[in-house]
Amino acid sequence: MPTFRAPRGTRDLLPDERAAFRRLESIASDLARRYGYREIETPIFEDAAVFERGVGAVTDVVEKELFRIARRTEEGESWALRPEPTAGIVRAYIEHGMQTWPQPVKLMMTGPMFRHDRPQAGRFRQFWQFDIEAIGDPGPAIDAEIIELGRTFYRLAGLDDVQVLLNSIGDAACRPAYVAALIAYYEPHAAQLPALERDRLHRNPLRLLDSKDPAMAELNGAAPRITDRLCAPCAAHFQAVQDHLHALDVGYRLEPGLVRGLDYYTRTAFEFFIPGREGGQQALGGGGRYDGLVELLGGRPTPGIGFGLGLDRIVLALQAREPARGVDAGGAAPVAVVVGADPEATAIRLKVATDLRAAGIAARADLSRRKLGKQFESAAKDRAHFVVIIGDELADGNVQLKDLEAGSQQLVALSDLARKLVSGERSHRHGGADH
Ligand code: AMP
Repeated sequence: MPTFRAPRGTRDLLPDERAAFRRLESIASDLARRYGYREIETPIFEDAAVFERGVGAVTDVVEKELFRIARRTEEGESWALRPEPTAGIVRAYIEHGMQTWPQPVKLMMTGPMFRHDRPQAGRFRQFWQFDIEAIGDPGPAIDAEIIELGRTFYRLAGLDDVQVLLNSIGDAACRPAYVAALIAYYEPHAAQLPALERDRLHRNPLRLLDSKDPAMAELNGAAPRITDRLCAPCAAHFQAVQDHLHALDVGYRLEPGLVRGLDYYTRTAFEFFIPGREGGQQALGGGGRYDGLVELLGGRPTPGIGFGLGLDRIVLALQAREPARGVDAGGAAPVAVVVGADPEATAIRLKVATDLRAAGIAARADLSRRKLGKQFESAAKDRAHFVVIIGDELADGNVQLKDLEAGSQQLVALSDLARKLVSGERSHRHGGADH
């Protein structure tokens, strides 16, 4: 038999790590609720054209990294796994007539994204994002709201020092002249450019600015800056975003080289970084304004802004800083384990545990046919607070309840067991040494 492994660039999230992701997801949904963003779920795959048009046909994400699904339908559709959430959400916004809802429509989603990237640390082929979109608000205040929301998310996740990098990449009025100036600037150096950058010079020249190739650093440092060439409305918008960030006390650093990889961005662009890592490949998350995207996908012209924050990189950052925080074993321990003096009497143990679960208590029945001592050992390994022991007292409707932490034991009526466990657990939580 061959040995099967998860596909290259993907991985299994084992329970401790999955719990760390779950913790981030619940912080995300709590924040979304507080900020008024409602959850949406779009399919994991879409018509590939949603990404080709929406994200842009000459972006890395579409050109090199799109996971196309081989099957073609009779209608000639071709599908692809979503490499990012925004294009699909905007497709849904148009399809379901959300233009008629009160604007802006504020949406949130968490889920897996797929990019056929070269796998390396922090770069996977299936990764998870927390995504926020506000569609139908031209800003600038909402731009600041979203950046502040992102920063708060990192804080609650346990990364207090995440830095915001901010830029404006203009719009259809001012960007074309800037792109022309950029090409004119790089062109005399074309022969010396690294191959990737030379290839991008005419196809997607903005991307040269955020090249990670050290050979580009000097040239990029002296390149024309978009923020010096914004049209008056874009410049005013950019200034107002900054004023709102000041009002919210959100620190940021202006980064003229930040252009984001996807075509749909206009004006505000931002990324979140761990301080000291800004020069590297790995933003923790990023987003921006996409005022042309709804129209590009066939809707009425509608402004929008959002972010996608990668969860994998947060978990990696937490693991690197404080190994215990990157995993989360919380919630795994049962409150009670039901054991029995008669190793064969598994049915009554299962019945008692089932009744406790119905009363809302995390209970495990020891279903082995091991001796009582062994059952106790495994309850201790489970880190259960209580052990329910079923023995001869059952004839009178009673069981023994042992508090493993306090070391005390009492006779309890089976009919009173759930209530005793609930109040015992509450006092463990409030008074216990480890809580
Ligand atoms: P992007 O849309 O490329 O800026 O991605 C937004 C965020 O998603 C990034 O900042 C990362 O946190 C995460 N991300 C993007 N691509 C990957 C990947 N291949 N593996 C893991 N995380 C990723």
